[in-house]
Amino acid sequence: MTVEGFVPSPIDRRAKTYIAGHRGLVGSSVWRRMGSEGFTNLIGRTSAELDLTHRDEVFEFFKSERPEVVVLAAAKVGGILANNTYPVDFLSTNLQIQTNVMDAALAIGVPRLMFLGSSCIYPKYAEQPIREDALLTGLLEPTNDAYAIAKIAGILHVQAVRRQYGLRWISAMPTNLYGPGDNFSPEGSHVLPGLIRRYDEAKNSGATTVTNWGSGTPRREFLHVDDLASACLHLLDNYDGSKQVNVGTGSDVTILELAEIVANAVGYSGITQWDKTKPDGTPRKLLDISTLTSLNWKPSISLEEGIAQTVKWYVDNRHTASARRPSGAAESVASETVGG
Ligand code: GDP
Repeated sequence: MTVEGFVPSPIDRRAKTYIAGHRGLVGSSVWRRMGSEGFTNLIGRTSAELDLTHRDEVFEFFKSERPEVVVLAAAKVGGILANNTYPVDFLSTNLQIQTNVMDAALAIGVPRLMFLGSSCIYPKYAEQPIREDALLTGLLEPTNDAYAIAKIAGILHVQAVRRQYGLRWISAMPTNLYGPGDNFSPEGSHVLPGLIRRYDEAKNSGATTVTNWGSGTPRREFLHVDDLASACLHLLDNYDGSKQVNVGTGSDVTILELAEIVANAVGYSGITQWDKTKPDGTPRKLLDISTLTSLNWKPSISLEEGIAQTVKWYVDNRHTASARRPSGAAESVASETVGG
């Protein structure tokens, strides 16, 4: 089979590999995956150790550490309400992080870099499932357009470096992600962790009703973060094209169906209501993953299995998970994870 950009030359497991955002949902999973696949020289910095919005510090770090592989999984992320309320934070912080990291990586000629984006880069009314070539063909969903523009700039940044300098940098666009270590804050989170927390609290307090946001009719695709990590490594080993590659499962559910799965997994048996004053966001966001499947990758964690595992993690870590600051607050730190 011929796939544009196919490179049958796996990454050397001894290469010094910097994972930006290694404490976040995505970065921590990529770190675990690479560790278990034999990478022996992984490096990471917490946001307290290295603030990626500080350009000089980022250049110093790259000059002294000289990584050979970079996974750019650091970003300021949040759910629909956070994105809608703090758009300039999502735009500015993400542009700063990704521009600093990619400029510093270019300055030392890092040969292999992966930039992680989000499925919200595609037009609001893109044909479903969304193919990679739908990029820049229509208007964005307004609730997260600022975040999306930053991520689109990142894709173009990678393509421009490839064109101007010939470095083998690539981009991956994950669909909505979830998993252990996610942000479970009621205001800042994405829908899946938001629902886990809400149903768990309702069950524990004996509440007879739960109220979710929007109409429940939008459709979303959900990918377990460990499947994303496996796809990232697969792409680093097997892909070298300028086109951003979609990463998803190929199937979606309504938010209403998702709520039923979460309520069952948590063991909540009360009534669910919908607050239609809250935004629905884009009506549907399902990725076409044929580029990735033609490279012989497929997801392995079903939604039910992944949610059950994430609920268990949440219940075991309820106190620390619930104490996290809402993503989207203006002072929020600059090394989280990807999503949008
Ligand atoms: P999106 O995919 O960018 O729209 O981001 P979200 O994951 O934040 O929201 C997905 C959908 O879930 C939207 O239609 C929301 O209105 C809906 N939703 C329902 N309840 C919640 C909730 O408690 N939190 C969030 N974030 N979304 C919710």
